[in-house]
Amino acid sequence: MTALLLAGPSFLYSAPPDPIVLLLEGQRREVLPVVRGAIELLPLDQVVEGIGVTTRGDAAGGALTLAYGGREAELYRGKSLASVGGELRLLPAAVLYEEGRWLVPVEGLPRVLGPLLGRNVEWRAALRVLILGDVAIPRLGVTTYVSGDAVRVVLESSEKIPFRVLQEPGRVTVAVPRDVVDVRFTQERLTGGIVDTVEFLGGKEHLFAIGLGRRFQQVKAYEQEAPARLVLEFLAAPATVKPREVAGGAAAAPTPKPAAPPERPVRTVVIDPGHGGEEVGAQGPAGTLEKDVTLALARKLRAALVNGLGLQVFLTRDKDQELPLDERTAIANNYKADLFISIHANASRSHGANGSEVYFLSYQASDDDSRRLAQREGAAPSSGPPPGSDSALAMILWDMAQAEHLQESSALASRIQEELAKVTGSEGRGIKQAPFRVLVGATMPAVLVEAAFISHPEEEKLLGSEAWQNKIAAALMRGIALYEADQARRAGLLGPGPRTGS
Ligand SMILES: [Zn+2]
Repeated sequence: MTALLLAGPSFLYSAPPDPIVLLLEGQRREVLPVVRGAIELLPLDQVVEGIGVTTRGDAAGGALTLAYGGREAELYRGKSLASVGGELRLLPAAVLYEEGRWLVPVEGLPRVLGPLLGRNVEWRAALRVLILGDVAIPRLGVTTYVSGDAVRVVLESSEKIPFRVLQEPGRVTVAVPRDVVDVRFTQERLTGGIVDTVEFLGGKEHLFAIGLGRRFQQVKAYEQEAPARLVLEFLAAPATVKPREVAGGAAAAPTPKPAAPPERPVRTVVIDPGHGGEEVGAQGPAGTLEKDVTLALARKLRAALVNGLGLQVFLTRDKDQELPLDERTAIANNYKADLFISIHANASRSHGANGSEVYFLSYQASDDDSRRLAQREGAAPSSGPPPGSDSALAMILWDMAQAEHLQESSALASRIQEELAKVTGSEGRGIKQAPFRVLVGATMPAVLVEAAFISHPEEEKLLGSEAWQNKIAAALMRGIALYEADQARRAGLLGPGPRTGS
């Protein structure tokens, strides 16, 4: 959009110009510009109308005086300069006087009105907006995430906006109820058949349109604050549909539905690659950064879970970015994930330390190493005082969301650790507990996996190797599959009804 509007090629001249929007504090006006050559000019009387500027014209003498709050500015007919408070200011083109109207080049208006009004005056050429005073224009960006069974479209905004989401045949639209928005996005095509296109159509409603693909089944929308954004989640047919049925094109045909397929205990998993951005995590002796290893492992695990188990999987971050601990669990909660897996790499000052560890949340760390680890990875807020010293603080932690899921978290940690041990040969380490802040707010079974010691030269090499990453991802996938089977068996034994009794 930006590039289109900035361009002023000659073939556009014959078309009537688009109005220019004047944004004042609490007011919006549209003014039609006058085009002369390559220059757009605005009738000055329409610009300063109602803002307390008085004008004294002297067409014969060829000057116009503007007065505001004891200050004065002068414009001169046919001249590309103005005088403001006695100082001369150059304008990009000449001021014109036509049919009783003073016309001022739009680009030059800030140089005259800014100092005259003693306020911020800005011309935003790309948006065709002239701002007078303190007016914030919301900036919008779009990010898309594609996984096997879902597409996430995130509208990030510089301020909270009450977006209007509408599902229409073949598309979902989002209207932005603001006078002017600064959109840094034009169009994106997506693969996978759930969402085909994301486009900014613009117009009065600043409409975004998301074109739905053949695999689309449903859309969920929710808002997040700080940073403000609208998250749209487009889901494909449920995970119980085998991928090859979809690939064969049979999904579009009305296939007879099996009578109430049993609900899987695990459908959605959120994987959290630890650290990111400036916050690099631990660093290996050869310089490998934890934040990079965790992202690589998370992506491989996502592929394994989507392709191997047919699960719906989201990452809390899919690029090198900083992300607060609380936000990571918030993402899992928003997705109503059935499992939350935070991935890390361990570090120790003792050079021999090696192997994998799987943690779930507790108020007390199971040993000193675990306590130190939890401190390094981000400890829960109430883990400061020595355990047992303040039962009220302990209560705060146990009040938190994760407290309800500890039994399942422990079961998941065991299954994952069993499978990891087969790859890493670290049976001795077992599952541990520590007050990790990233687990506290999770409203589902949640574990933290320390895949290996990045501080150990040989394990650092392994952590950076794709083959080993694939092995770890496969082990995590098997652990999750075993946990799911356990849960399904339990649900079967318990009969119909709530699937968890703990
Ligand atoms: Zn870490």
